[in-house]
Amino acid sequence: MYKVKSMVGGDVYHSTSSRTSPVFNPASGEQIGEVELASQSDVLDAVAKAAALQEGWGAMPAVERANMMFRLRGLLEENKEKLAEIISREHGKTHDDALGEISRGIEPVTFACGIPHILKSEYSLNVAKLVDSYGLLQPLGVCVGITPFNFPAMVPLWMLANALACGNCFILKPSERDPSASLFLHDLIQQAGFPRGVFSVVQGDKEAVDALLSAEKVAGVSFVGSTPIAEYVYKTGCSFAKRVQALGGAKNHMVVMPDADSERAVDALLGSAYGAAGERCMAISVAMPIGDEMADRLVASLSKKAREIHIAPASDAKSEMGPLISKQHKEKVVGYIEIGVEEGAELVVDGRDFTLAGEYENGYFLGASLFDRVAPNMRIYKEEIFGPVLCVLRAGSLEEAITLINEHELGNGVSIFTRDGAAARNFIERVSIGMVGVNVPIPVPVGFHSFGGWKRSLFGAHGIYGPESVHFYTKLKTVTARWVEKGEKGKAEFNFPHAGRN
Ligand code: NAD
Repeated sequence: MYKVKSMVGGDVYHSTSSRTSPVFNPASGEQIGEVELASQSDVLDAVAKAAALQEGWGAMPAVERANMMFRLRGLLEENKEKLAEIISREHGKTHDDALGEISRGIEPVTFACGIPHILKSEYSLNVAKLVDSYGLLQPLGVCVGITPFNFPAMVPLWMLANALACGNCFILKPSERDPSASLFLHDLIQQAGFPRGVFSVVQGDKEAVDALLSAEKVAGVSFVGSTPIAEYVYKTGCSFAKRVQALGGAKNHMVVMPDADSERAVDALLGSAYGAAGERCMAISVAMPIGDEMADRLVASLSKKAREIHIAPASDAKSEMGPLISKQHKEKVVGYIEIGVEEGAELVVDGRDFTLAGEYENGYFLGASLFDRVAPNMRIYKEEIFGPVLCVLRAGSLEEAITLINEHELGNGVSIFTRDGAAARNFIERVSIGMVGVNVPIPVPVGFHSFGGWKRSLFGAHGIYGPESVHFYTKLKTVTARWVEKGEKGKAEFNFPHAGRN
């Protein structure tokens, strides 16, 4: 059994508290590690160390930081396989899925290599006689990232790449359920030549989060996780006058129009609903076929193919779906299936009885489940399940689908499958959701766009990574400067200055 520690100021940091949390292999159910949980004083120590480095790191030429980012990018590419193994061991996702996560995590690093281009900001010559005006995008200060279990490398990379490239020291508080990937990232960041301590990893739970949210020297907080905690982090961080972006949970719909290619839609639904055992914030968890004819076709094909998904540990190269993250989470998802049955939805495919024999019989595996005839008032529709459970809600028209989607309290991603450009256009314009896919089931924006939901899927003004994150991780300072010619006389001006006068 291994021990997972924090890395602060470039060194291994032993927690001063004796609190620990177990780390499991979700495929076997066996405890494989233990993570030390930081105390409040550990957090304050980490923040103080980062704060001491902030001025120098922020003043370093942006292009020097970008050069380090280039090296980090190369190291991530070279070490993909190793990182994927670490992710699969503690998270349970398949090896290929872990590689996919790393590739999507490298995108913001690539973007960050070019951040000097954005930091140069704007300049206006002669806003008045002999007066020039320009903007400076200066580092926000010490920033922290609090991340979820489901993407132990990608979500930290979403945050740390742009935060560091903009000149902020960054402290990562990863999920205590799969904490090792963060230490591997720390190692690569050191190897890339970043000054020791500009990036730290503090392992912990609520105690560490609360200490980070109230620490005086923390300027910015990026959070990704469930909606109730996102809301808590946002409100608490704001009460301590931090800049906060807090991304929460999701219930993503896929509208399938009557003219869509139903088999393409079925394949898209299978991958996006059941890939990573449904533990993705951009998973499609509601299929919304328009009209009964399309609904019957989808359900018939889905129910056959969902039963054929190869469910196995990551060590099986043919695995298409791994286990859930923990015993408790599996029980929660099973609980939702029971609720759906009680609520009167039609359980067409029941994944509850799935087991693997032998070494993996205590793993947190669950088969794919499919509910048909789900109604908008049911809890299985309203709440995020975060497991391999797909709900089919039959809508009579595109209009009805848009109304239902817009009434849902979560607004992360949505997708429409159709051949009708006018219908797609109408949908894109009117749907109240942050990220929209057209014939694309998981519309996660690439690293040079920004990621973010609407409604209770994001608290705060900024999306994560891409151009939005540069605004999040910098403060705008606007300079108005006059350089008079030698000998030019001035006089007191009592009216409000404007271009015509000064
Ligand atoms: P979670 O909210 O339980 O945990 C997220 C982080 O918050 C962890 O680091 C955890 O240690 C910390 N935390 C947990 N409870 C806390 C508390 N009471 N006070 C303070 N901090 C606390 O989320 P999770 O289960 O790790 O991840 C799954 C959730 O994340 C899902 O809801 C999923 O939709 C969401 N998610 C959202 C996005 C997005 O971009 N919107 C991306 C990935 C995951």
